[in-house]
Amino acid sequence: MSDCIFCKIIKGEIPSYTIYEDEIVKVFLDVNPVANGHMLIIPKKHYENVFDIDPSIISHSTNLIREKLYPMIKEKLNCDGLTIAQNNGFGQEVKHYHIHLIPRFENDNGKMSFDKDMLKPIDEVYSKFEKK
Ligand code: AMP
Repeated sequence: MSDCIFCKIIKGEIPSYTIYEDEIVKVFLDVNPVANGHMLIIPKKHYENVFDIDPSIISHSTNLIREKLYPMIKEKLNCDGLTIAQNNGFGQEVKHYHIHLIPRFENDNGKMSFDKDMLKPIDEVYSKFEKK
């Protein structure tokens, strides 16, 4: 898509701190990181989110994380774990599918933060999923 910032990165019209690329995906550092080594995996072809992407790209990315990216991140940054996150719709700033890889370090104090005041009793929520 011509006005998509990540498509522009793929085409080389916008620079990126590229970590890895192959014929299917590109991996680069997030410019607004929440941790050292926070990086994004994006498909070279434009998809908006998990609901329209070719699932084979997700399995390609998962294999890449397991076999290449996490071992590399661990070796270079000596991290203790990896958080994998992916937003769809609300909460998604860039509408080109991307997977966040966030290296985790003991005592990094990283946590997802949601407004707990919005929580309903778990029985009430579960009743919406129960077969009638
Ligand atoms: P999301 O909220 O899941 O859509 O995340 C989009 C991410 O893309 C954010 O963490 C941004 O910091 C990151 N981002 C936006 N523009 C760029 C860019 N030009 N290069 C690298 N990361 C970017």
